[in-house]
Amino acid sequence: MTGPKHSCGVGGISADYDVSPSLYTALMIIQHRGQESAGISVFDGASIGTLKNNGLVNVALPKDDVAKVLGHVGVGHVRYSTTGNKSAVNAQPITVSTNFDTVAVAHNGDITNFSDLKEKYRSEGWTFLTDSDSELVTKLLGKFMTMYNDPVKSIRATMGELDGSYALTILINDRLFAIRDPYGFRPLCLGRLDGGYIAVSESAAIDALHGEFVRDIEPGEICEITKDTFKIYPAVAQHPRAYCMFEWVYFARPDSVLDGSEVYDVRKKIGEILARECPADVDLVMPVPDSGRAHAIGYSMVAGIPYEEGFMKNRFVERTFILPDQKQREAAVSMKMNPIKSTVSGKRIMIVDDSIVRGTTLKKLITMLRNAGAKEVHVRIGSPPIIAPCYYGVDMKSRDQFIATKHSVDEIKEIIGADSLGYISLEGLVEAIGFKESDLCLACVNGKYPTCIPGEVHRFQTNLHESFGTDQSDKKI
Ligand code: AMP
Repeated sequence: MTGPKHSCGVGGISADYDVSPSLYTALMIIQHRGQESAGISVFDGASIGTLKNNGLVNVALPKDDVAKVLGHVGVGHVRYSTTGNKSAVNAQPITVSTNFDTVAVAHNGDITNFSDLKEKYRSEGWTFLTDSDSELVTKLLGKFMTMYNDPVKSIRATMGELDGSYALTILINDRLFAIRDPYGFRPLCLGRLDGGYIAVSESAAIDALHGEFVRDIEPGEICEITKDTFKIYPAVAQHPRAYCMFEWVYFARPDSVLDGSEVYDVRKKIGEILARECPADVDLVMPVPDSGRAHAIGYSMVAGIPYEEGFMKNRFVERTFILPDQKQREAAVSMKMNPIKSTVSGKRIMIVDDSIVRGTTLKKLITMLRNAGAKEVHVRIGSPPIIAPCYYGVDMKSRDQFIATKHSVDEIKEIIGADSLGYISLEGLVEAIGFKESDLCLACVNGKYPTCIPGEVHRFQTNLHESFGTDQSDKKI
């Protein structure tokens, strides 16, 4: 699998007014899902106009320019991919013209058969401008629109070619569609606005537009949205679901409700369960801001130990996680966080975070806390050890990257310099999210994948060589 990873955010609005400013607002609200580029595509009655660029929403989409993109229906995108794929050419939405229509696509997810499909279509003479799987999705849609001139049939035909994860908002001239892959890896929901409808990755964006949440787009559904109403084209086949657990643990905003489960509530429950599973005798509980905040609140409430904000976070520092080398990542952590000495000095501290990937953040933070006079530093983590790569859109790419593939929990405790280390159990995590285990994608923590990935174990296999029933397989719709 090649191509940039897409842990992105998407939106689409149809209304009885110019939608660009509302798309801008929605993208600002889901900015955490992608900070590398942003874009909008709007149909103006004759053609689709696109404004997109690298940078945060307010940089990529200057307000004066947004105001010039006129039209009552449009889609938007924020993009997050790894360093090395920062070219503005990969910014979305991606547009293509067909004999009949112009198509604009905003994509969140990763197409796992991208390389095979690209090879196949290259050998048929197609050319690609980017290394993005979203370009392939857009071109496939264009191909089927030329064949069928029927949006729903074309979208279904496109879905039939794709494996992996995709939440899409699609503009076909003036027609707006929101689509979720048959597993529902990435979230997508529908809201009613004053004078229109919106589909967007996270419900917090509906709140910001003073809208009303209507429903989640269910896995495999195609939802057509107009300014007055919406129409659901149901999934053609039932699949076991595979909601990404990392959306609740880390990725989504705490104020969003994903598939009926509020992110803040889940994180707090994770903390509560952690407090029961891994108690410790400490003076105070502190989050690693911002990602560990709700988890730490839950921990503190159940443990009956005071909650304190012991780190000041500099919100203007760029994301440390995606920096290319270890030295830069470590330096960036010190720039990003500083302990509040009066809070930590002489104390036995519990810090709570959502996940450990490489261990960089916690190792550095624990050193800082000790330098600031902390007597003991205990660590609790809101996900089980990350041991397997994500192929479905979260930037956790290779096993070598993960500290937990090479080291036991005890060794990790030593490496990061903690007095104790506890991860939530898999069962605890599943309980906190509130779905059946079989409805979740837990591949990054149990190494079992909901779809066929060459060389990886499927969730209905116990080992790579065992077959599994076709009714449970990931056959395409
Ligand atoms: P590490 O320092 O490599 O152990 O990374 C763990 C920290 O990065 C945690 O505090 C998470 O909040 C954050 N994190 C985990 N996964 C990701 C991701 N895919 N992209 C950005 N940040 C992440």
